[in-house]
Amino acid sequence: MKNNFFKIILPVISMAVISVILILYSKKNLTNSYSVVSNSGYYFDTFISISIYEKDEALVENDKNLIAECFNICKDYELIFSHTNTDSELYKLNISSASTTKISSDLYNILSIADEYNSLTNGAFNVLIGNIEGLWDFKKCNIPDDDIIDQQLELLFKANYTLANNTITFNNSKSLIPAINLGGIAKGYIADKIKDFLLSNNVNSAIINLGGNILLIGEKPDKELFNIGITKPFSTTGENIASVQTSNMSVVTSGIYERYFEQNSTIYHHIIDPSTGYPVQNNLYSVTIISASSTIADILSTSAFVLGADKGMELINKTDDVYAVFITSDFKIILSDGLKIDNNTITIADN
Ligand code: ADP
Ligand code: MG
Repeated sequence: MKNNFFKIILPVISMAVISVILILYSKKNLTNSYSVVSNSGYYFDTFISISIYEKDEALVENDKNLIAECFNICKDYELIFSHTNTDSELYKLNISSASTTKISSDLYNILSIADEYNSLTNGAFNVLIGNIEGLWDFKKCNIPDDDIIDQQLELLFKANYTLANNTITFNNSKSLIPAINLGGIAKGYIADKIKDFLLSNNVNSAIINLGGNILLIGEKPDKELFNIGITKPFSTTGENIASVQTSNMSVVTSGIYERYFEQNSTIYHHIIDPSTGYPVQNNLYSVTIISASSTIADILSTSAFVLGADKGMELINKTDDVYAVFITSDFKIILSDGLKIDNNTITIADN
C-alpha cells in the first residue's frame, strides 16, 4: 500500500532521522548574505520546524537558543491543549464531572475565539466534536455504527457552555457533555504565540511551520517573498499543485488526504460535519487560508471545508484581509477575491 508509505513508514523514518541527528544547523546560503538557522521536532502529534533567516552571523547561536525556547513553548501548550495527553489541562477538564471549572487564560482565550467562530460559521466549526472525532479511527479503517454516531450527535446538539471570568460552565450534567477537541485551532493559536515570542526577541524574518500550519515573520532578508507550496492532494510523490508567494502571513491548509481511509469509493477523513457526525462529503480535497492571524487561518480552513465551495467561499469573501484557495476533487484551483494566479504561483493581488 503506497498510502502506508506516506502515512506511516515515511513519518517513522523521518522521526528516527530527526531524533538521531536532531537537525540543528546553520546553513550559509551561497548566493545570499544570510544563514537559515533551523530545527525540527515532534509535538502535537506532528512534525514542526522553525527557521530563522539571519543576516548577522554573530546572532546565529542566539537564534538556536530562541528556537529551543519555541519548542519549550510548544511543550507548555501541549500540556494545556492536548486532548490525549493525560497530564494536560484540557484532558482533565474533559474527564472532570464538575459543571463549573476555573481554567487558564490560554484555554479561556482559545475557547472564546472558538465560540465566536462557531456562531460566525453557523456551527460548522464546533470544538465539541471530540467524542465523534474519537469514534473515527483512521488506522483501523472502520466506520462507527450509525446508532453510536446518532447518540453522540444528540449529545453534541444539546451541549453548550458559557465562558465568564476565566471560568467555564456547562449547561448540562457534565457526563452529557462531549469532549472538547482543539485540533482545528490549537496549532494556529500556538503559531501566533511563537511569532509574538520571536518578534519580541527582534527576529524579523522566519518561518514557523507547525505540521504544515505555516506562519511567516516578515520577508526573506533579501526582500524576496516566501514561497509556500500547496500540496497536490493524494499525490504519492508529494508534489505541489500551486504555491503561495507572500510575506508576514499565515498559510494554513485543511485537507482530506493525510488522515483518511477509503471504503466503497467514499473517503472517510478527519474533518467532521457537526450536523451529521460524519466526515464532510463534498467536492473539495483541500482548503488553504491566507491571513495575518494563524489562529483564524486554522479555524477558517477547517470551517470553509465544512461549509463547502459555495458557502465557504462566501464566508471568506465577506471576511476582510482573509484569502482562500480551494482545491476541488477534480483538481481545479478556485481563488477567493483578492488573489491572482500566474504559472501556478498565487499572490495577493494588491501586493
Ligand atoms: P490538521 O490539524 O490535521 O492540519 P485541520 O486544521 O483541518 O487539520 O483540523 C482538523 C482537526 O480539527 C480534526 O483532527 C479535529 O481535531 C478538528 N475538527 C474536525 N472537524 C471539526 C469541526 N467541524 N469543527 C472544529 N474542529 C474540527
Ligand atoms: Mg484547521
